[in-house]
Amino acid sequence: MKALDDSSYDAARESMVREQIAARGVRDPRVIEAMRQVPRHLFVPAADRDRAYADSPVPIGEGQTISQPYIVALMTELVRPKSGDRALEVGTGSGYQAAVLSRLVAHVYTIELEETLGRRATTVLREQKYDNVTVRIGDGYAGWPEHAPFDIIMVTAAPEQVPQPLIDQLKPGGRLVVPVGPRFTVQTLQLIEKDASGTVRTRNVSPVMFVPLRRP
Ligand code: SAH
Repeated sequence: MKALDDSSYDAARESMVREQIAARGVRDPRVIEAMRQVPRHLFVPAADRDRAYADSPVPIGEGQTISQPYIVALMTELVRPKSGDRALEVGTGSGYQAAVLSRLVAHVYTIELEETLGRRATTVLREQKYDNVTVRIGDGYAGWPEHAPFDIIMVTAAPEQVPQPLIDQLKPGGRLVVPVGPRFTVQTLQLIEKDASGTVRTRNVSPVMFVPLRRP
């Protein structure tokens, strides 16, 4: 397969933002700008690079996928990122979602169960100078208590129920986005918000399909 040159990737990314993201209702200008900046093709395996800007998930090895661009943008908009926020991501995968979020917050902590993927994401993020992202290999069901509480938590694999440690590690005023439901079928993307008094409210946003959040 002939690799595209850099300017073709840039053009493909512009079309992606226009046709898949802005056209479908993502409005936050900071989110749109982050999607425009982060070179998604560098986060997918070299053999699949030419599909990086397609309107679909892309395989990243170990049976896992990098989410469809629209879903990355939607989830990023839902958590309402602010420049001083501290964020946790569960399911680093390729590192792409962490890279997008890192453009919008102070720091992203991200956890990946699969060692191969976690190592590869660490390398790509380092090479691309995403210096405000910290990757850890481990089990995201437990969150990351050493760095809690978080303004934002994004879960990019589907648990059957929302892990309680993640709700506990959300700050008052914090936003948690998570696909919840049975394995290998349609799940519900939920936005869970904790108000200043600690009360938790859940809103069902849309049907989605994610790989399962696995137990180690
Ligand atoms: N956000 C990623 C895509 C995630 S795919 C990206 O932008 O590319 C879901 C990822 O969650 C997979 O890499 C999978 O290995 C990981 N995962 C599954 N169960 C997990 C767990 N218990 N803890 C941490 N990561 C997990």
